[in-house]
Amino acid sequence: MVELDTETLRRYDSEYLWHPFTQMSEWEGVENIIITRGEGSYIIDTDGNRYLDGVGAIWTNVHGHCRAEINEAVKQQVDRLEHSTLLGLSNDRAALLAKRLIDIAPPGLAKVFYSDNGSTAVEIGVKMAFQYQQQTGNKQKTKFIRFDNAYHGDTVGSMSVGGIAIYHEVYAPLLFPTIKAPSPYCYRCTLSPEGDCNSCGLLCLKELERLMEQHAHELAGLVIEPSVQGAGGMIVQPPGFVKGVRELCDRFNVLMIADEVAVGFGRTGAMFACGKEGVTPDIMALSKGISAGYLPLAATLTTKKIYDAFWGDYAELKTFFHGHTFTGNPIACAAALASLDLFEKDRLLESLQPKIDYLNRRLQGLLDLPHVGDVRQEGMIGGIELVVEKDTRKPYHWEERVGVRVCLEARKRGLFLRPLGNIIVIFPPLSISLGELALLMDGIEASITAVTG
Ligand code: PMP
Repeated sequence: MVELDTETLRRYDSEYLWHPFTQMSEWEGVENIIITRGEGSYIIDTDGNRYLDGVGAIWTNVHGHCRAEINEAVKQQVDRLEHSTLLGLSNDRAALLAKRLIDIAPPGLAKVFYSDNGSTAVEIGVKMAFQYQQQTGNKQKTKFIRFDNAYHGDTVGSMSVGGIAIYHEVYAPLLFPTIKAPSPYCYRCTLSPEGDCNSCGLLCLKELERLMEQHAHELAGLVIEPSVQGAGGMIVQPPGFVKGVRELCDRFNVLMIADEVAVGFGRTGAMFACGKEGVTPDIMALSKGISAGYLPLAATLTTKKIYDAFWGDYAELKTFFHGHTFTGNPIACAAALASLDLFEKDRLLESLQPKIDYLNRRLQGLLDLPHVGDVRQEGMIGGIELVVEKDTRKPYHWEERVGVRVCLEARKRGLFLRPLGNIIVIFPPLSISLGELALLMDGIEASITAVTG
C-alpha cells in the first residue's frame, strides 16, 4: 500500500473530497486531521497523534476500533464470499444474522428486511407501513406523524419524517406532507408553562393524543426515535413516553415505526431502547451499531402481521417492491454476527452500569459550570447544552459556534468530538474503559471552561 504524507493527503482531500454536513469554505485549506488507524477507543492520524473517540465513529462503534475478533470474522468472510445477492438467492451470513436479530429483538418482531444505511432502514419502514395500510382495507390511511427535532436520515423519504429545520427546510417542496407533533424536549418545552417535565404529566403525550384523535382516519404510521432524539440534540424523552406512544398507536390503529438506528445495540444500556419500556414497535429500523461500526448495514424488522399483508399471488402486486444492491452483504453480516458474539463474550450490557453511573456523576457535576444549562443522559449517551444565561436558558446564537469551539479545544486535549449546535455530544465506543471515560469527561469539562469561562 502506498503511504502518502500528511500534506499530500490534505491536498487531495481539499481538491477532491466533498464532506457531509460540512460548509466546505470552512474546510478547504485548514489543517484537517486525516485518520489512518484505530485502536480500541482511539483513532490515530497520519502523524501518529491519538484522539479518544468521543463520538464513536459517528455513533456506530460498539466494541472499540479494530477489535481482533471482528477483524478476523471479516477477513475470513472476504475469503469465502464477498457479495452475492438476496434477489433470487440467499446467503448463509444474512440468514443466520436474521435469526439472531429476531432472537434479541423485542418480542413479536419476526422478519428482517436488510438495507445498508439508517436512512433507508427508516424509509423502508415508512413504505412498508404505507403499503400495509393500502393492502389491509385502509386506503385512506396514508399520512405519518413525525416529531419536531426528529432526525431519520437524508433521503427524501426519511427527511419527510424529520423535523430539523436547518437540515430539511431547503428541501421542503420535495418532501411529502406529514403531521407534526411536539418534541418531548423537557428543557425547552413549548407546552408546559413551568417548563418542568416532572410535574406536567406528559403534556407532549396529551398533545399527541389530540393529534391522533383528529387525524386517526388518515394516519398510516408514526415515526419515533425512542428514548433519545439524537441529531435533534440528544434530547432524552421523559419516562413513560415511549410506552405512551405505543398505547396511542394501538388505540388509533397507527403503526409505530421505531428508529433505533442510533439507540439500538446497547447504547441506552438495554439492547434496544423500546425494550426499556417493554414496547414492541410494529416496525424497527436498525443500522450504525448493527455491524459495530464496521461496515454499512441496516435492517428493518417487522411483525408477522405486517409481513402477512404482503402475501399473495404475484399478479396481485402485493409484493414489497424494494431492494438495494448491497442488501444482506455477507461481509457486513459477518461483522454483525461477530459483534453479537462479543456482546455475549464480554457480557457487554452487564458491564455498562458502572460506566453509566460514572457518566451520570460527571454530567451532574458539569451543571456547576456557569454556561452549562442542561445535561442529558440515557445509558452511554450524553448531551451537554451550553447556554448564554442559565436563568433564561438563552441559547448561544448559532453564529457563535460555541459547540464547534469547545470541540476544537477538546482536540488540543486529545479528544475527538462533534457537536450538535450548542450541544456537546458524548457517544463513545461502548467498550470504553472507566479510565478513558474519566479522560473524556475531564477534557470536556476543561474545554467548556476554556471556551465559555
Ligand atoms: N436515524 C437516526 C436516529 C440517526 O441518528 C441517523 C444517523 N445519524 C439516521 C437515521 C440515518 O442514518 P444514515 O446516516 O446511516 O443514513
